[in-house]
Amino acid sequence: MELNEFIKGLKRRSRGQKEFQQAVEEVAEDLIPYINDHPKYKKAKILERLTEPDRIVIFRVCWEDDQNNIRVNRGYRVQFSNTIGPYKGGLRFDKSVNLSILKFLGFEQIFKNSLTTLPIGAGKGGANFNPKGKSDAEVMRFCQSFMTELSKHIGADTDIPAGDIGVGAREIGYLFGQYKRIKHKFQSGVLTGKSLDYGGSPIRKEATGYGAVYFAQEMLKRRDEEVEGKVCLVSGAGNVAQYAAEKLIDLGAKVVTLSDRSGFVYVKDGISREMLDYIMDLKNNQRGSLSDLPDKFDCEFHEGEKPWNIRCDMAFPCATQNEIQLEDAKNLVRNSCVLIAEGANMPTVNEGIKLFKEAKVLYAPGKAANAGGVAISALEMTQNATRMTWTREEVDKHLQNIMQKIHDKCVEYGKQPDNGYVDYVKGANIGGFVKVADAMLDYGIV
Ligand code: NDP
Repeated sequence: MELNEFIKGLKRRSRGQKEFQQAVEEVAEDLIPYINDHPKYKKAKILERLTEPDRIVIFRVCWEDDQNNIRVNRGYRVQFSNTIGPYKGGLRFDKSVNLSILKFLGFEQIFKNSLTTLPIGAGKGGANFNPKGKSDAEVMRFCQSFMTELSKHIGADTDIPAGDIGVGAREIGYLFGQYKRIKHKFQSGVLTGKSLDYGGSPIRKEATGYGAVYFAQEMLKRRDEEVEGKVCLVSGAGNVAQYAAEKLIDLGAKVVTLSDRSGFVYVKDGISREMLDYIMDLKNNQRGSLSDLPDKFDCEFHEGEKPWNIRCDMAFPCATQNEIQLEDAKNLVRNSCVLIAEGANMPTVNEGIKLFKEAKVLYAPGKAANAGGVAISALEMTQNATRMTWTREEVDKHLQNIMQKIHDKCVEYGKQPDNGYVDYVKGANIGGFVKVADAMLDYGIV
């Protein structure tokens, strides 16, 4: 199989879906040489099958706003692959949501979920609904309408959604409440990211951010280094960014930035615990903007900018896809950043990834570094199935073990024989692929 030919075919089959094409291209660059060396995968057309979702459900979501206007949005669920377990992946509510974005996210989820070592397949969904500026009542009515249709396609053994951008504890509550009402049963394992009061897991809300930091610790360990004392850039100020920052601060790093859609905040001496608590309340409860921070704390606010030009030792992009463009990647390398661990999905453009690898930066792609979130979601399902709740300490220990295993899998498949540099992208792509591909061979042509 030849890379150019494969990509040409993929582009023909997914016209205009540029994020999906970007995600597949990054994976195919590593997988095609591997598949060519392992003809059983080539003969069974595993990559061609893996790049075509099992099914996609698209539906209308009608709801009424506070001024009694009827509003119409588009809802989606991309059920990508249930080869090694039920479909599993988050829901995104954002005005930018379209099929290309959800297909890229669902595709990445195949490899990520396989890397966790847990029995979970891959899916992703959401809607082009913008929760910004909406009242709680409007968000509730939207979630209820969305779930009325989605409920026909999900279930604890079928497809288990969770949160993502724009879908946090509030939205999961409304979605679960509607599912429970429609189905007339308390099926806690149908959604993850639930509040602890009704079947959520300790550490789930922290898991993606903490996991990205645990992954960075593993990378540093191979160089006999630690997190303590490192200057870190974190982007985003949502779920993933908040808990990446929290863990970094707890481990003695200096987190000098956070960002949101309005710009980024720079705190030269490092964000304090008090300031982080304030930011969590600002984003999670007041639903405000980081631009308000200079009124309260001694910090700089850079309107409309991203943080990648600040000197640092490590960077944790935790906002959204393609937030690190080639120019940003050049700035990071120039400013002697030695490690990048992605909390977000596909935050770096493919040219930026190439640059990081050429510069021998320790670079962990999202599908490996942010897998802690879905891993703890799978453990939330385990707790729901057994009607047990584990302690914070137990779950945190599982998270650390899982991140270590993912790291080791990346080293197994990504270590370059000549110089020992670990290509974590290749390691994650091949490491995630093998288990799914072997299961597909077992199933025959389905
Ligand atoms: P949230 O909605 O909680 O936070 C997203 C943050 O990123 C917000 O601060 C938001 O700004 C900012 N942001 C979003 N879009 C843009 C944009 N276009 N430009 C600038 N800033 C932006 O989402 P999460 O923290 O859950 O998700 C963040 C990333 O992590 C996503 O890529 C997601 O797919 C990925 N991820 C999330 C997991 C999870 O468990 N939640 C699991 C694995 C990956 P503002 O505050 O202004 O809205």
